Order: sequence, then structure tokens, then C-alpha cells
Amino acid sequence: MKIIVMGAGIIGVSTAWHLAQSGHDVTVVERQSGAAMETSFANAAQISVSYCEPWANPEAPAKLLKWMFRNDAPLLFRPQLDWRQWRWGLQFLSQCTDAAFRRNVEQIVALGAYSHEALKDIVQNTGIVYNRLERGIAHYYTDQQSLDSAAEAAKLMQGFGVNRRVISPGELFDIEPAYRSFSDHIVGATYTSSDESGDAKVFTQELARRCEAAGVQFVYEHDIIRLERAGNTVGSVQLRKRSTGELLSWQADAFVVACGSWSAPLLRTAGVDLSIYPGKGYSATFKLLKPERAPWVSTIDDEVKCAISRLGDTLRVAGTIEVAGYNLSLDTPLAQARCQMLADRIEQVLPGVCDTRNEAQGGQPNFWAGLRPATPTNIPCIGKTRVGKLWVNAGHGTLGWTHGAGSGKAIAELIDGQRPELRFGFLGV
Ligand SMILES: Cc1cc2nc3c(=O)[nH]c(=O)nc-3n(C[C@H](O)[C@H](O)[C@H](O)COP(=O)(O)OP(=O)(O)OC[C@H]3O[C@@H](n4cnc5c(N)ncnc54)[C@H](O)[C@@H]3O)c2cc1C
Repeated sequence: MKIIVMGAGIIGVSTAWHLAQSGHDVTVVERQSGAAMETSFANAAQISVSYCEPWANPEAPAKLLKWMFRNDAPLLFRPQLDWRQWRWGLQFLSQCTDAAFRRNVEQIVALGAYSHEALKDIVQNTGIVYNRLERGIAHYYTDQQSLDSAAEAAKLMQGFGVNRRVISPGELFDIEPAYRSFSDHIVGATYTSSDESGDAKVFTQELARRCEAAGVQFVYEHDIIRLERAGNTVGSVQLRKRSTGELLSWQADAFVVACGSWSAPLLRTAGVDLSIYPGKGYSATFKLLKPERAPWVSTIDDEVKCAISRLGDTLRVAGTIEVAGYNLSLDTPLAQARCQMLADRIEQVLPGVCDTRNEAQGGQPNFWAGLRPATPTNIPCIGKTRVGKLWVNAGHGTLGWTHGAGSGKAIAELIDGQRPELRFGFLGV
């Protein structure tokens, strides 16, 4: 089949890879000049099968209210004049029950485990090197109440086959001595040895290269304008070449939308309405000044909900979510407060370990923002829409890197008429 994949983030590229492996004629269309230039560019780097609880949980509504006016809050909902944001918010609240939480976790864990195997297969078959660290993920807590809730979550995860266990501060420091410098604050942790970390951008760009070698055509610097329907089927996709403004209309046997947060507006041009809304997050990448004191184990700091991952000679610190529209700016007071929080926190936890002011680069800190394509459940939309020839692989929210390899594999299997072997609610199946 001739298949057009829209978007060259981790999800689109992984989709293209798996489709090409099963013999399809694949073209990927992307507005940027290369793969992984948007949300897959500088995320927290965690392949986190075990730390995957959705933001929608029974405690979330109270926390949201408490955090509403705090610029450095881990989760912020800032109302916009956009009824889709309000709809998303109401759907999110409807997921904040024990039953919904459990149901969502079950599917997220299933996709995570399936995806981890798919990632290992790709790495084995391609030899891609991407600062991978197979040292597990730790999650430390600075207050007893949060640790007790984490123990409950760990029990739930264990029930779904994930080996996330509660450990004492002493065990944490044995696993990752770097955090001894913050020992006065840490009351305990959870740890999963099978989780890992690595650079999503490097992996995606390398996989795109392998795709090209396997015959996939990448068409960069083209905006996808709309999906053009012919009756109840998508007949073609309309593109605009960025350099000339030329409009093109391309036909195919199947179209896969993998445009991250922009999937929802694009799908609406074909009459498909999915509740995917951007959740802005920030990261900072700091050069290591004292590599010998920097952590190797990828970690989550529960108090500020930021993740810390070592990528070569840098430390990536990333976190917070802001449901406030499609703005990617780093210049607003809110964005500046959130970025500064990441730098301040890393100085507090690992004092002097990295160059948080980026002195070497003239004091310009290496901050970045990305829009997580968030669904109210944190479960991505993978499968067939009700419009003929139109497929979707989007809405991966906080876990697109973790779920990338498996989501690509799953949609390729679905397009080939197979049922992926996992308990997951695929669209249209
Ligand atoms: C701060 C932060 C930390 C994160 N940490 C982690 C983590 O540790 N682990 C994890 O698993 N996940 C993490 N994530 C989530 C993960 O990064 C995302 O879920 C994932 O990158 C989404 O991939 P995607 O391919 O769907 O989207 P993208 O990477 O955004 O790719 C979509 C592509 O579509 C293109 N596109 C969109 N619209 C158009 C159009 N109209 N025309 C042409 N091209 C278009 C874009 O240019 C883009 O390249 C994090 C996210 C953030 C923001």
C-alpha cells in the first residue's frame, strides 16, 4: 500500500519504520527541516514503563485548585477562550476517580511493556546509539504522605506485572549515590530496575535515517494544511511547500496522522474530533561540571515533579505541565518562572554538579518547551477513525517516548489487519 504518515516525531518515525518493515511504500510529511524537532526534541528521556500514572487521579482536583495561582506549580490549568480546552478539562475531571485511574493505568502499563520490547527490537536490529542508560528509574519523595500514596501506586503497578518497589533512603543512595547530597530531605523512594533512559531526539533522527535507507521518503518543510474528503473517505492530503508556497494534493491508500498536539486540528478538517490538547512542559539541559557527582540512574523528584536524566556529558531536567493553549514561548513571566524553577531545584538537589547558568555559553541557559499531546486519560489514540483510509497515532501526552516504538508497531499491525497482542483499547477495533 502507498501510505502517507503525517509528522516526523518519535510516533510518526516509528510508524514509518514498522510500515516499511512490512513492505509498504511510505512517505513521511513534516513541516520542520528534520525529524524530532518539536515535542520529541528535548524531553525528559525516560523510558518509563513503571512510572506511568496519569495526571488524572482522585487527588488531582484538590491539587489543581491549590496550584491554580502558583507559577511554579507542577500542574497548571489556565483557562483560555477555547471551549475545547474546557471540554478537555471536564473530561479530565471525569477521570479523577479510583475506578478510572485503575482502568487507565492498566492500559498504559500494557502499552508500555509492549513498547519496551519493540524498542529493544529496533535497537537490536539497527544498532542505534542514543545515550541509552539501562539503570532503572528511581522516584524519590520528600514527604511521608506522598511516599505512602506512592506505595499504593507501586502495589497497583505490581498487580499489572511491573516490578516497582518501595525502597528506603539508604537503598536509594546505594543504587544512586549522587542523591546523598540531598539526604536530609528524602524520606524514601520507589525504584524499577527494568526502566531506562536515552535521548529521544537522537533515537528518532537515527531511526529516520534507517527508514530512508529502507526506502521511506521524507518530505520536510511542507505544512500539512488539510485532509480532503471524498465522501466518507480521505482522498488526499493538501500540503504547502514552505519555500515557495506551492500547494500540493497527494493521494494514498492510507493516511496516518501523527502530528502530536496538532493532530486534533488536522483531524477536524476531515470531521474527526478527538480530545487531544497541548500540555506544555519545559526542560533544561546543563553541561556537567562534576560528572563524578552526577547521577547515572534516571530519577523523578516528586516534590516538584521533575525528571532528571543524564545524557552523555549533560544533565536533562524536565517537567511541569501547563494546560493553556498552543503557545511555545519561553519569554513569558510564567515560562521564565517555570524554567528558573528547574535550574534552582537542580542546584538545591545536586549543588555545583552542573552549569545551571550555562556560563560556558555566555550565561544563556539551555531551556526548551514542548507541547505534550495530552488526552484526558493519558491514553493515546491509536487506530482507525470512522473516516475511510484515515488512521491516527497521537495523544501520547507524558509518555510518547516510552510508548513510541510500540505505538508505531501497533498501528502498522492494525493497518495490516492484525490485532496487536496487548490489552489496549485501539480506536475502531
Ligand atoms: C517536558 C517534557 C518532558 C517529557 N518527558 C518524557 C519522558 O521522559 N518520557 C516519555 O516517554 N515522554 C516524555 N515526554 C512526552 C513525549 O516527548 C511526547 O509524548 C512525544 O514527543 C510526542 O511525540 P509525537 O511524535 O506525537 O509528537 P511530536 O514530536 O511533536 O511530532 C509531531 C510532528 O508533527 C509535525 N507537525 C505537526 N503539525 C504539522 C503540520 N500541520 N504540517 C506538517 N507537520 C506537522 C511537527 O512538526 C512534529 O515534528 C515529555 C514531553 C515534554 C514536553
